[in-house]
Amino acid sequence: MMIYIIKKENLREFYRGEIYLLSQIYNTDDIEELNNKILKYIVFPIKKIERADGLTVSQTEEIYIIEDRLEKHIDEALKLYRLDSININGPSIIRVKSPLFAVVDTPLYTKGENIEKDIAEFYVSNVILHEMGHYIVNKNRWDDDEFSASALQYIMYIDMHDLLKYPETYKIVKENIIECKKYVRTFAFLGYFMVIGDLPQNLPNAINELRGGAPYELGGCYANIIIDRNKNINIKNVIEEVKRLSPLDAIREIILYEPKR
Ligand SMILES: [Zn+2]
Repeated sequence: MMIYIIKKENLREFYRGEIYLLSQIYNTDDIEELNNKILKYIVFPIKKIERADGLTVSQTEEIYIIEDRLEKHIDEALKLYRLDSININGPSIIRVKSPLFAVVDTPLYTKGENIEKDIAEFYVSNVILHEMGHYIVNKNRWDDDEFSASALQYIMYIDMHDLLKYPETYKIVKENIIECKKYVRTFAFLGYFMVIGDLPQNLPNAINELRGGAPYELGGCYANIIIDRNKNINIKNVIEEVKRLSPLDAIREIILYEPKR
């Protein structure tokens, strides 16, 4: 597997390279067929995932990071945190919002020396882990796929940085699960108003805010349940579990789950 970084001005080159690779993989020069493949595997996903800073093309075993989006989002994230207001002495766990998750927080270990750098690294690492999640699971339906990639992203980050040894992590996980339960409740409200045919006036705004985000948020939420449920994380088991589950299954699990610790 290869990870590449592309810039907007290189998109043309990038598409040409992909056409070439796909022509090798599918052993065809039929430009119409290749065009269809590039639309299906590359153009539509890039358009659809405007929330994401990366793209996985499993057919060519490549992960692309879209640099302009990534930079823009890191800048936004840094502004959001108003770093001068984070006041810590020495090594700490702080809670941050990862690129795709508005509902759950992620613990971030920082030595407290350069928080700006730590947050930027956190951001990039999460973008890459999310794309690796796609690479590992690779489901057909886009929402299924985003759900699994997001769950794996969250868990791989925690596991890779050995964050389960800090009690703060469990505190964050527990609070995340409470937020997740509130979040899935909004689905029930929306569904209820829809079936009684009486949508409240302010509902279109609420729907707009939720639109497109659910598979990511549910992935992040379900990851927190996996962490809360298990003493130790075994990534192989997590992958199997996430593969079996759909975002709809996750909604039910989140509604029924009661945090342990
Ligand atoms: Zn994704």
